Amino acid sequence: MSSENLQNMSDLVSLCKRRGFIFQSSEIYGGLGACFDYGPLGANLKNLIKESWWKAMTYREDVEGIDTSIFMHPLVWKASGHIDGFSDPLVDCKSCKGRFREDKIEINDPCPSCGEKDSFTEPRDFNLMFNTQMGAVEDTSSTVYLRPETAQGIFVNFLNVQTTMRKKLPFGIAQIGKAFRNEITTGNFIFRMREFEQMEMQYFIKPGSQADWMEKWKEIRWNWHLSNGIKEDHLRWHPHASDKLAHYADGAFDIEYLFPIGWDEMEGIHSRTDFDLKSHQEFSKKNLNYVDQADGNKKYIPYVVETSVGVDRCFLSIMCEAYRLENKGEKEERIVLKLKPSLAPIKVAIMPLMKKPPLEEIARKLHGDISKDYRVEYDTSGSIGKRYRRQDEIGTPYCITIDYDSLEDGAVTIRDRDSMKQSRVSLDKVADFLKDNLKMC
Ligand code: ATP
Repeated sequence: MSSENLQNMSDLVSLCKRRGFIFQSSEIYGGLGACFDYGPLGANLKNLIKESWWKAMTYREDVEGIDTSIFMHPLVWKASGHIDGFSDPLVDCKSCKGRFREDKIEINDPCPSCGEKDSFTEPRDFNLMFNTQMGAVEDTSSTVYLRPETAQGIFVNFLNVQTTMRKKLPFGIAQIGKAFRNEITTGNFIFRMREFEQMEMQYFIKPGSQADWMEKWKEIRWNWHLSNGIKEDHLRWHPHASDKLAHYADGAFDIEYLFPIGWDEMEGIHSRTDFDLKSHQEFSKKNLNYVDQADGNKKYIPYVVETSVGVDRCFLSIMCEAYRLENKGEKEERIVLKLKPSLAPIKVAIMPLMKKPPLEEIARKLHGDISKDYRVEYDTSGSIGKRYRRQDEIGTPYCITIDYDSLEDGAVTIRDRDSMKQSRVSLDKVADFLKDNLKMC
């Protein structure tokens, strides 16, 4: 059996639309640039990814999860450096008026859009934060920003969490939430969106221990991606050169994934020093020192190692990895999403062979029984071949068919998504079969 991995992003975009994973935002109005909607199956898979991260990161004694507001006091963004420094250098093409990130093009090459030579303007900084007005009066004093990262909600709650949860260093605070950036270079599906979701964790540590903690978190985060079914040779480390580090960092590594568009960042692991807490202490005038009882009540601002990953880029990597085209050009050609069962949006499809009352009766009863434990789809429409094809494309690990033999032997046929092997299982053993085979996360 021949099997091909995903070759083009457009094949995945088309599957996502066809099967209800991802739609363009406001599609009936022609769409909105770099904004996307997750459909029923996409929302399901996205939630399973978030659940997997939440469990891996907060089901531990040393990390607490929180959920902070998108709008924050405007001074937060002054303190964090986003108002003054969160910008991309942009150049405009004088001929076609196209706008490009200076670091994404060759400035001496012709314009990638219209082909004109020597047509770029000098680079100008463009702030990536969206802003809006809060309150009834539209004046500058009420300008608020849509957060461009979730991390600052964690920093400003450092003391609240530390005191209420009686935490001692080292400990972490994690959260999942939306972030917004007015990105310029868009166009690779959900890789770079203007509204996206992040899963971030700030780990507060004693100054001087950052090198050790970077190593520990690098290993944990790498293994988490493997646990989602990503192949190790599709991941690599990209260390940031010391002259390219962000203003707050003293070390940074990206986990890159081999997307169909090439290697690119999926997650960042950064050693952020005490920059953020120190700066919030200065701007808020609140004492953010930690009193280290284990070290003679020494007072200091903790250092931070952060792990920051985009939900949408994880989603994209997991879909790219799972996509297979089998038996290309042959009669049995099929697209199959080989998702880990724990991430499959639908775990089981129940299919009475025909829409006939005695078969449907058994099928409905089975559906009622197992849908207490799993997301189950009930499907009676079309030929059985078409029904299998749909379930293969959405990654459903098991299809159960009920046929006329079921009326005689009280058994059903369970088809395995990956091997397509079928086995006959007695109705009273179906729950055990699923429990053994669907290893939930
Ligand atoms: P890039 O260089 O690709 O713009 P970044 O280095 O600015 O990314 P970070 O600020 O470190 O990204 O954000 C952490 C993570 O959030 C990224 O690794 C990525 O997974 C995700 N992310 C950042 N920007 C976007 C975006 N516009 N769309 C989708 N995910 C994003």
